[in-house]
Amino acid sequence: MVIEIDYSEVTGKKANCPEGCGMCCLCQPEVLPEERNFFRTKYPKNLVKSRTEDQHFALAMKKGKGSCAFLNGRKCDIYQNRTTFCKQFPFHFYVSDRIRVEMDLSCRGVWDTEGADAMEQAKVLAEASERRLSKALVEASSVYKEFYSICKETGVMCDVSQLRMSVSENISSFTNLGYVAKVLNQSLEEPKMSLDGITPDAKYDEKELNEAAMEASMGSMGSDDPLSVPVYCDKDFNWNMFMANGNTIEWAIMDDDGELHHKGFVDARDIQLKEPDEEGKKVLADYIQILNGRDSFLGNVFYMMDDLGYEDDMGNTYYGAMCVTIIDLLWRASMLDHFFGFGMGAEGMKEAIIFYDMDRLDAPTIGAFV
Ligand code: SF4
Ligand code: SF4
Repeated sequence: MVIEIDYSEVTGKKANCPEGCGMCCLCQPEVLPEERNFFRTKYPKNLVKSRTEDQHFALAMKKGKGSCAFLNGRKCDIYQNRTTFCKQFPFHFYVSDRIRVEMDLSCRGVWDTEGADAMEQAKVLAEASERRLSKALVEASSVYKEFYSICKETGVMCDVSQLRMSVSENISSFTNLGYVAKVLNQSLEEPKMSLDGITPDAKYDEKELNEAAMEASMGSMGSDDPLSVPVYCDKDFNWNMFMANGNTIEWAIMDDDGELHHKGFVDARDIQLKEPDEEGKKVLADYIQILNGRDSFLGNVFYMMDDLGYEDDMGNTYYGAMCVTIIDLLWRASMLDHFFGFGMGAEGMKEAIIFYDMDRLDAPTIGAFV
């Protein structure tokens, strides 16, 4: 069977894996049923149940919280036999009522201009997982069909391609905090909003927007479990972790043995949401364009609509989610600037996306990553 896959996100891109990184080995890889026997026979102690709700089989992590137990000297001890999910990184196959490849921008290797052709790599991976992808497509298509039918019944349905088109036409406006503040307010106040005619609010409430951004960012840091908090893999491949306790954010670096080394604290209220400069805005605009094309972003919007009982219009939820994503990213960029001094130019935005994208891809959706 030949399945159709949308490769547009990876077309023309390269994907490299520089030596000494190992960041993706901090994500506990699932072990598929057909892979279990190898680990059960050869490495029984390293085959464990995940701590996620579905308790799937996964590889053990060092001290239960560090990198994968097979990572030594930032090299994989079982490289030829690593799991399918290890092989797939940084590609993710998002299954909705179609299949689309998305590329994890938290992987520093995808920012390299060197490396193998990303689309060719993704095609090889898709072929190896064709059976699983086909099965997931049948299941996810039925979930999407039901979702759209509820949206029509409840009157919250919109034309998805129109929503994407309107964001696309206003991409540069979305890099302006006054515009984001206006869209966010309208998404909450208007019953059925449109982007037509919206201009930036020059007098937006900075304090209110800062608080909303802080809340969005702190949500993902609010755990003392290193497996659950966001990781920022820096240029020297240090694994930086940020953990929030109340308003205090602790910055620590995890070493190869799974130990955390304290680096600093900041009171989140001391971080001020900053707007990028002109070069930073170009990087941000490119990222918004990628998000706007991602089916997983849409799947997350649909998840929120379902979670909130189909009370909100699809357009309002879509534009609102885009705004929250932007202020979350910019708040993180402002935090990285506080700790590392990257600024809010092209470099600061690139590093913030590297910090953020893995969490963005991890957001709940009504579809599935396979
Ligand atoms: S995150 Fe990317 S660069 Fe780093 S080890 Fe994984 S694939 Fe390689
Ligand atoms: S099996 Fe190898 S590639 Fe996969 S997470 Fe573990 S160390 Fe990394």
